[in-house]
Amino acid sequence: MRGITAFSAVAALWLASTGTGMAAPSLTVLCGVDEMWCAAMKTAYEAKSGHEISVTRKSTGDILNQIRAEKAAPTVDVWWGGTGDTHLQAGSENLLEPYQPAHERDMLPWAQNFFAMSGGRSAGIYAGALGFAYNADLLRQLKLPAPTCWKDLTDTAYRGRIQSGNPNSSGTAFTTLATLVQLFGEDEAFRYLAALNRNIERYTPSGSAPIKAAARGETLIGISFMHDAVTQKQAGFPLVIVAPCEGTGYEIGAVSIVKGAKNIEEAKRFVDFALSPEGQGTGAASGQNQVPSNAKSSLPLAAPDISMIKMVDYDFDTFGSPEERSRLLRRFDAEIAATN
Ligand code: PLP
Repeated sequence: MRGITAFSAVAALWLASTGTGMAAPSLTVLCGVDEMWCAAMKTAYEAKSGHEISVTRKSTGDILNQIRAEKAAPTVDVWWGGTGDTHLQAGSENLLEPYQPAHERDMLPWAQNFFAMSGGRSAGIYAGALGFAYNADLLRQLKLPAPTCWKDLTDTAYRGRIQSGNPNSSGTAFTTLATLVQLFGEDEAFRYLAALNRNIERYTPSGSAPIKAAARGETLIGISFMHDAVTQKQAGFPLVIVAPCEGTGYEIGAVSIVKGAKNIEEAKRFVDFALSPEGQGTGAASGQNQVPSNAKSSLPLAAPDISMIKMVDYDFDTFGSPEERSRLLRRFDAEIAATN
């Protein structure tokens, strides 16, 4: 735990040091993964290229909003990490630059399919399944039953004891929303979300906050990607990680070049690095547990075995479309968030 805190402080320093009184960075990256991986990737790319870059962590929906708002005068070159359906949405809004990465032929089939689906604008860099995790110490103290299914989370025993992300800003939480719609059908999913809402303590802006809160006993249950929960568990926190009994959804994390990027050649080099075994290795090296997309990359030892999890056939085409995402978010805001 202490290691993580120390690394976070270093990460914050690294991230804060960009663009303050120094020469303009040769590349501006918005980073959608955990802060520690953002910092490790910055360090590794700078060491490889010899060029200083700026890397800022933001939640996936916030990155999409920034790129959209800056369409006429982009300040961002690369969007690295974060859930792929949101990258697909940016692609269909013509906000991304097509690019054929050097390592695309080494990608696993799911990543090659994702690249084709994006029209060559976004490349898959990792995959991970959605789930939830609870704090075992707190559960024991409170003498509550252990949840194993999505439907268990609506039990009144968990009133005010669950956190989830806000799907407007968090890619993790949008994956949750889309997963429930695919598992139960839309109307049943919204009835489920209304029942779950009564147990939700708060919707956090970022997707990893709920699992960090559950890890520290600040809440009982956090809904998140399972690999995020593994990282907290490895840091020594008493989490039990659940692959819900009804099945679950998954993400393909992606990297994209922003249309009109000022530093296009450096952006291409960064994307190539992000798809290389060396670039992908920065994930495991900073304690992350996603499944990398390059067949030649090593799998982090504790990465959840996604082939063993009951998984929906996630419809990236539908849930990556601007119309569907906006419509579901409007319905979530009107029927769920407004009553929290
Ligand atoms: N953290 C991890 C480990 C992820 O895999 C992802 C999604 O790609 C995110 C965070 C996304 O963050 P957010 O839900 O805040 O958009």
